[in-house]
Amino acid sequence: MNIRITLDGKEIETTAGTLLVDVAADNGVYIPTLCYQRGKPCLGTCRACSVRVNGNVMASCTVPVAEGMTVEVDAADLNDMRKALVELLFAEGNHNCPSCEKSGRCELQAVGYEVGMLVSRFPYRFPPRTREHVAKYIWLERDRCIFCQRCVEFVRDHETGRKIFTIDDRGTHASIEIDVALADRMPPEQVREAAELCPVGCIIAKGVGYDKPIGQRKFEVKSIRERTLERSRK
Ligand code: SF4
Ligand code: SF4
Repeated sequence: MNIRITLDGKEIETTAGTLLVDVAADNGVYIPTLCYQRGKPCLGTCRACSVRVNGNVMASCTVPVAEGMTVEVDAADLNDMRKALVELLFAEGNHNCPSCEKSGRCELQAVGYEVGMLVSRFPYRFPPRTREHVAKYIWLERDRCIFCQRCVEFVRDHETGRKIFTIDDRGTHASIEIDVALADRMPPEQVREAAELCPVGCIIAKGVGYDKPIGQRKFEVKSIRERTLERSRK
């Protein structure tokens, strides 16, 4: 059913029930996301896509559009709030981009650029986190995990459907874990997909790395904003 909503003061026509984050992209309005991926179920964990809907702030990946909705994306307070959310993610883990294998193709880094982040306004926590090297084909650089849950929900053992990644504990004690037995039977393609799916450099495929020269890496060739808006036109 066709409906009308107002997006940043402009009236647009769209289809009822489509997720707001996608409607915005379809109309040329980029909203940053870190857990959400178009075409996959919404996870709603990172909140980086927060906007104002009928006066209330909510994550746009969780909102199906409805007739008459008024949506604000580009407002000074909202831009700053999204920036603060990204800064929190940097302050909460340990991120050292220049030495990171994911640099240049990391969604957190790319979104950091989009929201204009230079440094976190929050004190860095420097949490002590151990790396996990036991699995044959994958290692976990836990310093960089943002607990988006993409790997938890979307990477499953092909035979049993069981989860290969889980998040153990809660809050500041949360830790990304890997089922080593299941991980060791992941085919190479699934290993590559898991490493690619992780928006940061936490899931790393063993035996490969730093394979693209600086300047030719994914988001250096085309920004995350361009890629998001381009995907919406396909
Ligand atoms: S995961 Fe991304 S943000 Fe974190 S250190 Fe690596 S490149 Fe930087
Ligand atoms: S390992 Fe990567 S995909 Fe999994 S929860 Fe952490 S950041 Fe998300």
